[in-house]
Amino acid sequence: MTDTMQRIVLASRPDGAPTLDNFRLEDTKVPTPGDGDVLVRVHYMSIDPYMRGRMDDAKSYAAPIPVDGLMEGGSVGEVTTSNDPKFKPGDFVMGPFGWATHGVAPAAQVMKIDPNVAPIQTALGVLGMPGFTGWLGLTKYGRPVEGETLVVAAATGPVGSMVGQIAKAKGLRVVGIAGGPEKCALAVDKFGFDACLDHRAHKTASELRAALKDACPNGIDVYFENVGGKVLEAVTPLMNLHGRIPICGMIAWYNEGGLGETASDAGLTGPKLWRTILVKSLSVNGFIISNHWSELPKFLGEVAPKVVGGTLAYEEDITEGLENAPQAFIDLLTGGNTGKALVKIG
Ligand code: NDP
Repeated sequence: MTDTMQRIVLASRPDGAPTLDNFRLEDTKVPTPGDGDVLVRVHYMSIDPYMRGRMDDAKSYAAPIPVDGLMEGGSVGEVTTSNDPKFKPGDFVMGPFGWATHGVAPAAQVMKIDPNVAPIQTALGVLGMPGFTGWLGLTKYGRPVEGETLVVAAATGPVGSMVGQIAKAKGLRVVGIAGGPEKCALAVDKFGFDACLDHRAHKTASELRAALKDACPNGIDVYFENVGGKVLEAVTPLMNLHGRIPICGMIAWYNEGGLGETASDAGLTGPKLWRTILVKSLSVNGFIISNHWSELPKFLGEVAPKVVGGTLAYEEDITEGLENAPQAFIDLLTGGNTGKALVKIG
């Protein structure tokens, strides 16, 4: 086996939207696994919106990536050396190996995957963190009820497409919001949404709201929040009494700097939003999926058979080559991906 590898580090912190200059591709030596570690050759790495937050030097639920540090993220690959009896060379695993061709991690942070059940990269998408996020957020905080109406944006991504399909199976009317006519067609034709609106075709929140009103004649009971921004402004006035808003992500605002006590006061309140939450008795629940890993087996038990049986669809957007990961990430933040963003290595 070669003793050199490649990795991508954070070269500098972005000011607003990330650019290619914020990343640096490096050659380095393959690390030596310590006691209880596994060494893995990566086949696919995940590109996720949360990585934008880690690039800022700001307080959040996870520590920032240091400048010159490895870009963090989940990957799947093949064990080449194992210093833990639970794994052997040739096993396929998922773990926190970052933006790199090879990685070492403690066995406790690594999960074995069975390539005979589903393609290995599904452990990063429909059967991995994003799919689990959609399932958990909807079932635990969306509390869907047959006959209700649900709206979700980023509808063709791994979170949104899971939310829409689970809600549809529970008998809700499901309306997606996505960027462009192709993605909207995918939401309806492949993922079975009842309707999908193109947020790019509606320039203002009021325009988008008028279209949503037509698509949701009985109002909105569950708004699964993936994006914030114009979509949130369009949806809020259409929420029904006792509606639920699981707050999963706010990608429209990820380039707007950090939170915490030292952040500027701008944007700290949204008076109409808060008053709507009050007068409509809405349940608004933020959640971070890493606090819910104990429910992963339940998710896999329920959803994996549907994926394997072909009754739950998924879409992947695969970029070839580690060196193209930064561009794939920049594209993800502006809707350039269609489906789960992955990078194939080697
Ligand atoms: P996607 O693969 O769906 O990619 C993000 C999508 O967001 C883009 O493709 C684009 O889709 C959409 N988007 C980007 N900017 C805007 C905008 N300004 N307005 C509307 N839509 C926009 O991502 P995921 O499915 O992986 O993640 C979806 C959300 O879930 C993200 O916010 C992510 O951070 C969050 N998340 C939260 C977790 C948690 O623990 N709370 C865990 C995992 C994900 P389009 O072109 O269709 O608009």
